[in-house]
Amino acid sequence: MTTDVLVLGGGPAALCIAAALSEEGLRVDLLSAQDPRTPWPNTYGIWCPEVERLGLGHLLSHRWERSVSHFGAGGNDDGVREHGLAYGLLDRGRLQQHWLTALESAGQRCLIGKALGVDQQNGKLRVHCSADRQLGARLVVDATGHHPALISQRPSAAVAGQAAYGIVGTFQRPPIEPGTFVFMDFRCDHLSAEQRQQPPTFLYAMDLGAGRFFVEETSLALAPPVPYARLRQRLLQRLAHRGAEPIAIEHEEFCLFPMNPPLPALPQAVAGFGGAAGMVHPASGYMVGSLLRRAPVMARAIASGVHAGTLDSAVLTRLAWQALWPAEERLKREFYRFGLSKLMGFDETRLRRHFAAFFALPEPLWFGFLTNTLGLSDLGGAMVRLFALAPWDVRAGLLLPAQEAPGDG
Ligand SMILES: Cc1cc2nc3c(=O)[nH]c(=O)nc-3n(C[C@H](O)[C@H](O)[C@H](O)COP(=O)(O)OP(=O)(O)OC[C@H]3O[C@@H](n4cnc5c(N)ncnc54)[C@H](O)[C@@H]3O)c2cc1C
Repeated sequence: MTTDVLVLGGGPAALCIAAALSEEGLRVDLLSAQDPRTPWPNTYGIWCPEVERLGLGHLLSHRWERSVSHFGAGGNDDGVREHGLAYGLLDRGRLQQHWLTALESAGQRCLIGKALGVDQQNGKLRVHCSADRQLGARLVVDATGHHPALISQRPSAAVAGQAAYGIVGTFQRPPIEPGTFVFMDFRCDHLSAEQRQQPPTFLYAMDLGAGRFFVEETSLALAPPVPYARLRQRLLQRLAHRGAEPIAIEHEEFCLFPMNPPLPALPQAVAGFGGAAGMVHPASGYMVGSLLRRAPVMARAIASGVHAGTLDSAVLTRLAWQALWPAEERLKREFYRFGLSKLMGFDETRLRRHFAAFFALPEPLWFGFLTNTLGLSDLGGAMVRLFALAPWDVRAGLLLPAQEAPGDG
């Protein structure tokens, strides 16, 4: 049996695009290596306007009106910045169920199995799966994450990874101000002079209520990534310095994903979505907001191709990639990758000064940059303003050739 679209994967990207395709009236099969109802392991944070503008605010489990960062060195120099924008935590279970309900109520099939290979026959695709099964479709969308099952990735020099180590738990005293979300705490007065020469890391943290907090030591991006052991050690050192040692650890999060891989070279036998298709924002690491905004666009383009009736899978695949990565989006992505390559060479002082200038931009600009919701010309305008606001050492860092990342001292 040949369905219209076979979506591979069971994470946020696969469920999101499968639900959007179903919404367009297409017949969709979902093939996931594990039951797509299996709880997701990651914690997904998002700036509230991203979900609220889509009418999906009910998918948040937490919402913080107060969001702050610290760009000072610490001690007498906290460099606190009030962002004035609400931040939220997605309720993973509710988000997953939101998309699964859309699929189940439309009678779409959710299958369990691993995609192993693909070939083309008479203008259609046949996916070879575990247990010797084969599935036919006019189009296949690979949404199997950052190491995709069927998309061939371009070989590339070291891809930078965002690494983080986090814990949910209770602490001797609140590790951050109660009721607050901390986007980036770059204070480093707990580090030795030698540690301050190493690649910089910052704290991302939230008050979960009832005395529980999520605190995560994060590295912006580095190749090779900052090891978990170092992130953990730095987190514990930071907490000890603030008298907030953990009392009970409920959950540990180990986070690592590629930030700046090149886009898959075309043509490909299959289309892609999510981590498999390079959708992680190369400068901020966010992706879920983009999934929500871009799935309907891609699904509409695919539906118009499928409904045209005669197009073969190669044409449909090309159509899908074009809808996901039109020229303007590709250019913006290169721009973000370029920016990240500069920041990766900044030492801790320059990075703090860079972010202090970045968050002095008007909110629509920094929000639009972090969420990739600015058009190309506004993005260019934001960067010119940032350059004008930035201190000289940051300007020099942005202009001069990308430097080697700070070493391990
Ligand atoms: C710890 C962590 C925290 C993150 N936090 C945020 C955040 O706060 N906000 C944000 O926007 N982004 C965040 N990200 C980045 C990004 O949104 C996530 O990596 C996201 O999970 C990627 O979604 P995905 O569906 O593309 O891939 P995944 O979530 O990795 O899902 C891949 C799916 O494909 C399935 N699969 C794999 N191989 C096959 C196969 N051969 N056949 C069939 N199925 C297969 C897997 O079982 C899995 O279900 C985070 C990433 C990590 C790792």
